[in-house]
Amino acid sequence: MSEIAIVTGGSRGIGAATARMLAQRGYDVAISYLSNEAAAATVVRDIEAAGQRGLAVKCDAASETETEKLFEAVDRELGTLTALVNNAGITGKVDRLDSAPAETIRTCIDASVYGTIWASRAAVRRMSTRYDGKGGAIVNVSSIAAKLGSPNYYVWYAAAKGAVDALTIGLAKEVVKEGIRVNAVAPGIIDTDIHEHSSGLERRVEKEAHLIPMGRAGTPEEVAEGIVWLLSDVSSYVTAEILQISGAR
Ligand code: NAP
Repeated sequence: MSEIAIVTGGSRGIGAATARMLAQRGYDVAISYLSNEAAAATVVRDIEAAGQRGLAVKCDAASETETEKLFEAVDRELGTLTALVNNAGITGKVDRLDSAPAETIRTCIDASVYGTIWASRAAVRRMSTRYDGKGGAIVNVSSIAAKLGSPNYYVWYAAAKGAVDALTIGLAKEVVKEGIRVNAVAPGIIDTDIHEHSSGLERRVEKEAHLIPMGRAGTPEEVAEGIVWLLSDVSSYVTAEILQISGAR
């Protein structure tokens, strides 16, 4: 029997790399996406090419109702969930807090904070021994922004990721005796669409490489390796951990 994973925001970037890697390591994988159906379909094809079952569900992470439907689709189509990656997220256009539109701030916080809360709650209800579940693992995709604060970029995003870190630690302790481990990864600058499409920063990966002690941005696969390790039994004594993957930034 394969392990069964949900990766939110699995159509592109870190989520897509994680979904592909999980399939290569023997997981059946459901991905959610917000609007890019074609990208989601490509990831599902790659999951299937790896010999696993794949499923793509359009689901706004910010919506409790849509998230419930995502989990019900996975119950129905794939079976008992064993792994969740809360990855869906956006930054919103770079701005100062005093001039950022409320909508930018709200959309970011809703996707990251409520997104992680709704999906984690649904996962605990399926995985916890308290609900006759068989256990499992949750990994939240945070950011080193929670530590740096991201002044003049997106302090609201940094605040959202700080909330994700607090949730990781608290929930990990809450369910530690119920067969569930909860961890996070905190990536630095990773080479994905987010910088240009969400933040509005052109060629950030090249322009800001000098700010990274390692001298380069990370790849989505380098983050996926950390996520997959935290989901696997190899990390069985690791919980409430926030693993920085940032080239020492
Ligand atoms: P990305 O390349 O822009 O991909 C974002 C993914 O999330 C896409 O699959 C997108 O779906 C999905 N998505 C966005 N909003 C959503 C919502 N409300 N509901 C469901 N899905 C949603 O971003 P990324 O760089 O891989 O970022 C992934 C995670 O890593 C985010 O949580 C981000 O904050 C975090 N992170 C990234 C970096 C970095 O430098 N890249 C650094 C630290 C942390 P569509 O394809 O349908 O649009």
